Amino acid sequence: MNKIYFYITVFFVIGFANVGTSQSKMAGICGCTAEEQEQIKLRMLENRETFKNQTILRPESITYIPITYHLVAKSDGTGRIALRRVFENLCAINKIYATQNLGFYLKEVKSPNNTSVYENPTGALGAQTIKNWRTQNPNSVNIFCASIANPAEPGVLAFYNPNGDYIVTENNQVSSNGTTLAHELGHFFSLAHTFFGWEGNTYNCSLPTPTVTPSGVLVEYVSRTKMFNNQLLCKVAADGFCDTQADYNLGFGWPSSAGCVYSGCAKDPDNVPLDPDEKNIMSYFLSCLEYFSEEQKEAILLDYLSSKRSSLRTISYTTKPDITGTLNYLTPSKNQTVSGYNSVLLSWEPMPNAESYLLEIAENSALTLNSRAFLLKRTDTTFTDLKKNTNYYWRVYPMNQNSFCSSGATINFRTPSFGVAIQETAAEKLKISFLTRSNNEAQLYLQSSSTGHAKLFIQNIVGATIKNSNVDLDLKNQIIDIENCVPGVYTYSIQQENEVLKIGKLIIQ
Ligand SMILES: [Zn+2]
Repeated sequence: MNKIYFYITVFFVIGFANVGTSQSKMAGICGCTAEEQEQIKLRMLENRETFKNQTILRPESITYIPITYHLVAKSDGTGRIALRRVFENLCAINKIYATQNLGFYLKEVKSPNNTSVYENPTGALGAQTIKNWRTQNPNSVNIFCASIANPAEPGVLAFYNPNGDYIVTENNQVSSNGTTLAHELGHFFSLAHTFFGWEGNTYNCSLPTPTVTPSGVLVEYVSRTKMFNNQLLCKVAADGFCDTQADYNLGFGWPSSAGCVYSGCAKDPDNVPLDPDEKNIMSYFLSCLEYFSEEQKEAILLDYLSSKRSSLRTISYTTKPDITGTLNYLTPSKNQTVSGYNSVLLSWEPMPNAESYLLEIAENSALTLNSRAFLLKRTDTTFTDLKKNTNYYWRVYPMNQNSFCSSGATINFRTPSFGVAIQETAAEKLKISFLTRSNNEAQLYLQSSSTGHAKLFIQNIVGATIKNSNVDLDLKNQIIDIENCVPGVYTYSIQQENEVLKIGKLIIQ
């Protein structure tokens, strides 16, 4: 059966079952190893050197960067997260990046089925598959969403792989909290952790603070004026930024109940108490994250402008205006019992600047029970397969390629125990207007909500078929010419397989 929409099966149950407690979430980590961050930091230092004699101004308005989400399912197609979560995630991420006039537009959502990637994206097979997929999509940031980021290290929420140049995230992090992926995108654009060097090494107040971390990284001091080899130490130690305070991975395991002011005992090698920036996105104070520092923002911009990132700048993209305001539903009205369970028209008013509408429908208000989702270009759709005597809940999420923050309310209707005549159902699929002409011709104007092959039959007043032609239905308005007719009254019908989509009278003058 042809439909005018992409059909997206929604698996909320699996998506939410893994959320876990807030405690386990707070103990989560980013999977970028110290070795990988050494590479990442090196790129930042190279960019700093490349652009050192240039004045680089931030974009005056938001520059949008292409991003692709790969929503991976098992090989049997189960386990994929809902498309809505990508929109919610991008809404949150773009708010974080808006302060540097950068943002991400959704180049594409891919839906591959591959159990190896879904269950173990860091395994040999899974990682190789991701690399192949990444290679096939070079002009984009690539985020791969799987059930778990790294089964060998279950605490890993997400990671950036600098060798393959891609991000992997567990599905739970694709949510309305954008900080995890904003952090990984920070790595993608050359940022190391504010506590770089202390990953996997626990700072101990009772031991003298070393000047080099166990993984060989120069330790940052509290002082912003301390020199090292004739340059500011804060410019080269840890993450290489002077406006990100010294942090020895003090956020790891920091309980959200303790608030966002570090009050621990950490001291630098000069015995000065540390005052880390708990709100910095590249720290591990996971319940406090809010922003990038100004130097981090500059580094992100330099990386975006670097030759290594030229592939992200090859596609010209015209920014779409933001979608704002409230979505108004037309039919059915809230709490309404509709006239028949077998044909229910859902419709809403168009939203200015929307390109598509994500329609979600389910049998509970959380939209998780037997939920389905449809990405539509239209502002209505007719359901012919709903159950009798059932409460349905639905919501419409208008979006365009760079605006994801507008969502309609969830409303409900009820189906009765009875149906309506099939012609009424069919009539919703195809609308026709005529233009009669004087020279023995007519034109049928079709507005179809389905696609595929159909047949047009024209019969004269005594029931003889005088015309029988194929029609390829598509979603655009179509015109069918009917030529060489003797003036008179005719019957036309448009049929798809055994279903009559439309039947009516035609007068040729
Ligand atoms: Zn990280």
